[in-house]
Amino acid sequence: MMTHALGRVPSSLTGQIVTPGDRRYAQLRSTYTTSASPAAVLLPKTTAQVVDAIRYAREQRLPIAVRSGGHGFSGASSNNGGVVIDLSMLNRVQVLDERAGLVRVEAGARWANVAKALAPYGLVISSGDYGGVGVGGLATGGGVGWLVRTHGLTIDRIRAVEVVLADGTLVRADAEHEPELFWLVRGAGAGAGIVVAFEIEAAEQRNVGVAQLVVEAHADGRTVREWASCLAQAPRELSAAAVLFAEGRSALMSITAVVAAESLRRVRPVVEPLLAIGKVLEHRTDLLPYPTLVPTAHLHPNVGQQRGTTTNGLFSDLDDAGARAVTRAATGPGRAVIQLRSMGGAVNDVAADATAYPHRHQNTLVIASTFPPQGGAALDIAWRTVGARADGAYVNFESRPNPAAFARIYPGETGARVRRLWKRYDPDGVFRSALLTGQSQRSGQPARSGQPQRSGQPARSGQRSGQPARSGQRSGQPHRRRR
Ligand SMILES: Cc1cc2nc3c(=O)[nH]c(=O)nc-3n(C[C@H](O)[C@H](O)[C@H](O)COP(=O)(O)OP(=O)(O)OC[C@H]3O[C@@H](n4cnc5c(N)ncnc54)[C@H](O)[C@@H]3O)c2cc1C
Repeated sequence: MMTHALGRVPSSLTGQIVTPGDRRYAQLRSTYTTSASPAAVLLPKTTAQVVDAIRYAREQRLPIAVRSGGHGFSGASSNNGGVVIDLSMLNRVQVLDERAGLVRVEAGARWANVAKALAPYGLVISSGDYGGVGVGGLATGGGVGWLVRTHGLTIDRIRAVEVVLADGTLVRADAEHEPELFWLVRGAGAGAGIVVAFEIEAAEQRNVGVAQLVVEAHADGRTVREWASCLAQAPRELSAAAVLFAEGRSALMSITAVVAAESLRRVRPVVEPLLAIGKVLEHRTDLLPYPTLVPTAHLHPNVGQQRGTTTNGLFSDLDDAGARAVTRAATGPGRAVIQLRSMGGAVNDVAADATAYPHRHQNTLVIASTFPPQGGAALDIAWRTVGARADGAYVNFESRPNPAAFARIYPGETGARVRRLWKRYDPDGVFRSALLTGQSQRSGQPARSGQPQRSGQPARSGQRSGQPARSGQRSGQPHRRRR
């Protein structure tokens, strides 16, 4: 393997650079989806050290990857032969104003730790369904969480961000100061700079109602259609995820429905319509503390253990043909694992041009994944009919970033503005997104690099996902394999 002689690290980062000879390297080189061999991983602990890390990384004239929790699907938070700026030590969660629910969260924190830190205050931030996901990646793209219809996307509750730009300038952006950067970071933040911290308005909530159902999914798509129309009409206290997977010649839907209510008496009537969408094989409803949904049991090192290919599409309505196509994607030749996520509610209160996430009229997000030995070709077969009907896409569930994906994620005027602002804040393309170039870290060969070293495949567990991790074993991630 060719190696690049790295320059001397600045004294402020002594001990915080990890290179291949270091025993920490094995746990820091890769991401959740991708094994990689960077020349160095920098571990800044402060904003000033992030500034130094960017300067140092740029001086090396090597590709630069930014990592918060390492769960990005494209694997872009590591690289081969380049420098990774890993923010995992920048992970504080501070309640700034308890009455207003204002919280400062550093980018390297994981959502499990955010939920745990806020629980004593009776506060929650709707983030995602997985405790191990990092704040930085999720909160720069969107954030479709367990309370998404109640509180909107994670980015909808961001009130200010602290960003280190490619030239090392630290900028605090909010609605009044640097509003263009503030707009960009909420939906297209990967490519703007390194966000070191977010100020987020948390919501008051201690417990949530959680219903877990397994329903037979009819091959003609009617169960999926019923699920989608039930959610589109539901009160915004209800948010839900469902995983659809083949079972013989038909499919099963494993549904997790979360109700923002503090008593089972209020939870049950909200969940009831879901019990009528098809033949219910299993069902239970509980009242659980919110952190149960994003537990610390999800925290683990990332060693490229979850290889797979993922894409997604948004839908205003899933009509008969759309619902049939979605069901067929799970049961047909490609055999993708399909996840449905409820959108709408508070997400659609926000104007389409208010943030760089413009999709404010859709009600359902459909996510499709295939896993080895199936690859992208199988996903394309499974997804073709569904994808043709989709109305937009969400950046954080796309493992193959390229210009076509950019056009689905940032359509029209949003896309033009994102391109313009990425260029303004990062004129040299230090953080240039693979959405523009089509060269993802997974397949791209950097200028002076070693070859990617793929890890072994983890065993399939056959578990049904779309479930909160009551015991730390089940999660709502868009696949059904153990981590
Ligand atoms: C198991 C699993 C479950 C998931 N569940 C959900 C879910 O329920 N809802 C949802 O919305 N998403 C979900 N996602 C998708 C998730 O939002 C994205 O994968 C997200 O990018 C992960 O963030 P991270 O910080 O862990 O990733 P990383 O791999 O660290 O980062 C991903 C990319 O984001 C950019 N980035 C990271 N940190 C920063 C920063 N501080 N400043 C600027 N750019 C940065 C970089 O370009 C980086 O390549 C899930 C992903 C997985 C793997």
